[in-house]
Amino acid sequence: MRYEDLYRRSIEQPEAFWAEAATAIDWNVPPQRILDYANPPFRKWFVGGTTNLCHNAVDRHLAERGDQLALVGWSSETGSVRELTFRQLHREVNTFAAALQSLGVDRGDRVVVYMPHTVDAAIAMLACARIGAVHSVVFGGFASHNLALRIDDARPKVLVCADAGSRGGKVIPFKPMVDEALARAEHPPVHVLVVNRGLAGELPMRPGRDVEYGPLREAHAKAEVPVEWLESNEPSYILYTSGTTGKPKGVQRDVGGYAVALALSMWSIYDIRPGQVMFSTSDIGWVVGHSYNVYGPLIAGATSILYEGLPTSPDPGIWWRICERYGVRTMFSSPTAVRVLKKQDPSWLQRYDLSRLQYLFLAGEPLDEPTAGWITGALGKTVIDNYWQTETGWPVLTLMPGVEMRPVKLGSPGLPSPGYRLRVIDEATGQDVGPGEKGVLAIQPPLPPGCLTTVWGNDERFIASYFGHFKELLYSSLDWAIRDEDGYTFILGRTDDVINVAGHRLGTREIEESVSSHPSVAEAAVIGVHDEVKGQVPVVFATLKRSDGDAAESAAQMMRTVTEQLGAVARPSRVYVVNALPKTRSGKLLRRSLQALAEHRDPGDLSTLDDPNALEEVRRALERGADAGG
Ligand code: ATP
Ligand code: MG
Repeated sequence: MRYEDLYRRSIEQPEAFWAEAATAIDWNVPPQRILDYANPPFRKWFVGGTTNLCHNAVDRHLAERGDQLALVGWSSETGSVRELTFRQLHREVNTFAAALQSLGVDRGDRVVVYMPHTVDAAIAMLACARIGAVHSVVFGGFASHNLALRIDDARPKVLVCADAGSRGGKVIPFKPMVDEALARAEHPPVHVLVVNRGLAGELPMRPGRDVEYGPLREAHAKAEVPVEWLESNEPSYILYTSGTTGKPKGVQRDVGGYAVALALSMWSIYDIRPGQVMFSTSDIGWVVGHSYNVYGPLIAGATSILYEGLPTSPDPGIWWRICERYGVRTMFSSPTAVRVLKKQDPSWLQRYDLSRLQYLFLAGEPLDEPTAGWITGALGKTVIDNYWQTETGWPVLTLMPGVEMRPVKLGSPGLPSPGYRLRVIDEATGQDVGPGEKGVLAIQPPLPPGCLTTVWGNDERFIASYFGHFKELLYSSLDWAIRDEDGYTFILGRTDDVINVAGHRLGTREIEESVSSHPSVAEAAVIGVHDEVKGQVPVVFATLKRSDGDAAESAAQMMRTVTEQLGAVARPSRVYVVNALPKTRSGKLLRRSLQALAEHRDPGDLSTLDDPNALEEVRRALERGADAGG
């Protein structure tokens, strides 16, 4: 099959295409109508069909692959590995589902899952799916403020948490943070279900509200909980966006469309068949974790690896050791993680037998050419950039080696996934731009299966946030893009990442690419800073591969590199060399906070900030003065 044929069919005959794709999953009642688009921009896929995510991820594999590994939880933090076959997973999910029911959780009720990236977290999610409860996973690295905001939006009946997480060997107690969040929340859950890993010692428990899972697990050890068949468009889960640009939105996902899109993506994009092994280094707190750590691989009858820990501990070879041990075929990670590895001794990539590893997919932020080039060379495997969003649930732009491996173009995540009618629109006129011209990436509705159905509890916000940018009804999350003659799309960053220097509009990404091409640079962030004369000037914050490198010398060279590559207009006004850059917990650069600090403003909402030290680093650098320019 050719990619072109598959894609064209999905666009020209969407109902026939998706009806066929829908046969990849089990339905209790088959869909009565493939698409209902009577109420744009809302759309319903597989109307009248009833199905269940847990059934498709677990139960339906029991007959053929009950003894195959379903989940592997590898923790560098606790030094433990937990392996579950599909049969064992089925057992654990039934027990957990019974425990939730004993706490009063019913179809349609919300359950907040605030857990580290462990097998137990996946069990909790699948248990919710089994009984038709709507899970809302909150990343375990968020503190009580973030948790409270999400609780008040989702209004859960039960909150499931672990006693503690662990990061870099340091135990992070969760229960006190939960207690604090519940004290702040206006709509706290009735019960808190605590999965005790034995990391945090004596737990503060409030009688009547807080329940330990251990005794419930014993009590329900033999429970059989029938799956709840849901209409395809009922909600399966809520997941909040990363909050890179502002207040997170509660992305609501359906059941049938999501399952069908994931099933399609597993063979066509990730080239994974039943029995093969996928390793995504994401966290269940993010959309990649939902789609490609839990639901996607399991729906496909594949084995999924959940890794808890840093990519560098106990040593920078750990991910490759896991690949060798389990025969991983497809790996999924992020550019941020690759940049971390780039700072390590490259020989770590040579020490393990990676003969079964075929692909490394990377997503979450722009994959700059130097990073893409480095990892492709160092690993000697196919590296594929993936562009998507929490909202879409699966790739928008990708290459599809399971169908046909089209050539990689460094700097581009490739071609549209099936069902996505992509357009590149002129911001001012709302017209399509030509090949090679820059515009805003938009999706012509109806959105394909798998994408969000609405913003939780707020249809107006769904319309205003995503469909209100152009005269025409078009979906956009406001990323800049260029499509070339061959249809490859390049993402140039977010529309608010553009700076205006003396009337010239420059993408921060272009300048970042240029700075990163300097051999001693590990990572760079470029922002526009207010300037009396020019309006804005580019300012660079960069980390070096070797922290003992000469900062001033490197900074001066970065300025020269940009001037040579992009011209004097893009020449950074100042370059600051720092030890760390501020990022969200999902690994995205927080340019808006950097810019605020550089302009002596309040850095704003820092609740999604990963490492407060990084911000201090920047503050100190600004006080100390630039390493070049200024
Ligand atoms: P919020 O919407 O709350 O501000 P966010 O957009 O960071 O947060 P996510 O849904 O996690 O939340 O991220 C999606 C965004 O990440 C995309 O819109 C895009 O800006 C960026 N992105 C993801 N993958 C890529 C990629 N391969 N190349 C370039 N940018 C990417
Ligand atoms: Mg977004």
